[in-house]
Amino acid sequence: MMKKIKLLFVVFSVLLIVNNTFSQTTHLVLSSRSFHPVTGNDTLNTLKIIDQLHPSRLDWLYCESPAVLKLLKSRNLSFSLAIHPQVPDSAGYTTVKYRIVDINGKPYVPPWMTKSTDHNLYWGCVNNPIFKALFLKKSLQYIDMGAYAIFVDDPIFNVQLQQERPNKYGCFCDYCIKGFGEYLLNHKYGYIDEPTLKQKLRLILNNNKADYNSHDQLLVLYQKYQRESVINFIASWKQKLNAYKPGIKILANNYNGSWNDITSIYDGGICELSRDHLNVPYLDSIYRVADSLSKTQVFSLVSSDQNSHDYLMAYCYKRGRDYLIPWDVYTPTKRNPFYRFYTNTNGVLKLSNDLKMGRISIEINRSKAIDSSLFKLRKTNSKKILQLYSIPPKSQ
Ligand SMILES: [Zn+2]
Repeated sequence: MMKKIKLLFVVFSVLLIVNNTFSQTTHLVLSSRSFHPVTGNDTLNTLKIIDQLHPSRLDWLYCESPAVLKLLKSRNLSFSLAIHPQVPDSAGYTTVKYRIVDINGKPYVPPWMTKSTDHNLYWGCVNNPIFKALFLKKSLQYIDMGAYAIFVDDPIFNVQLQQERPNKYGCFCDYCIKGFGEYLLNHKYGYIDEPTLKQKLRLILNNNKADYNSHDQLLVLYQKYQRESVINFIASWKQKLNAYKPGIKILANNYNGSWNDITSIYDGGICELSRDHLNVPYLDSIYRVADSLSKTQVFSLVSSDQNSHDYLMAYCYKRGRDYLIPWDVYTPTKRNPFYRFYTNTNGVLKLSNDLKMGRISIEINRSKAIDSSLFKLRKTNSKKILQLYSIPPKSQ
């Protein structure tokens, strides 16, 4: 009897595992920065791609056209609308009074945008009340337009400046200086009036121009204060969006799939993945973390190599994860920092159909990749087996 019970338990466990394996289904997610045709000369057509691939949703789209969004809604296609710290003010410009400035009042432009022909490049400051109102107003407008989620392209705001070399520490606008004075008082540092505080910071910054990791106590605290300001800003924004529309999602570009004290406030990540991180153990580890935090996660590979995109697609199907179709995404190259990549949608359709019809199956190959292959194709009488090398060769 005991043996029978044990056997039943084993069978039941195996069924559970098998069931669990198939409980996750890959959905195709289209990602497109613009809705095409953008101009009369544009030969690309987003709607055609949607009708070809029938994606489950459209993510990371910059669009404010009610006519375009109406077309998406008529196809029952849910979409997330993208916003970033460069959101223009009501006059259509990134006016300095809303924005991050350095200690001398010069507005901030991120290094990857310095070659852009766009003239509205200045980032808003999270401590600036008029920027906060602007960002909220624009987000609520996107909710009214029918977005299921708001996607923040550069999601760490003022803290981005601390990742630059030389370190820029954060924003030094009047709102930030005032807030920092209060922060110091609350952290038992003592009272310093605003003009004195600004002067002290100016002296430290001018003396530390080449010092990437200044340990000056005031600068260390300034960075903590800027980080906490960003956390408070996003948390408060999220709360207001949810009060306006319960259940609305906020998504972030969590670069390489990492979650930290800032990005983990968001509900999910649509992550730009560098080619160096394209391998099975890394992707598995990112999904383990995302699952443990109950975050949604998809990847947008930053590469113009079609084979690498096919690899990611095959991985997503193997693991039952949503696959983001990169059709009109930025993949900077050495020659062109604003290169836009459009994946081979016929290839996406073919692999997806072959998998659904059982003509092809996917396996993970643990052996070392030969030459520069990412895959090995094995054929049996009835079907093809596409094997992914667990660790593919480095990009050429
Ligand atoms: Zn500021």
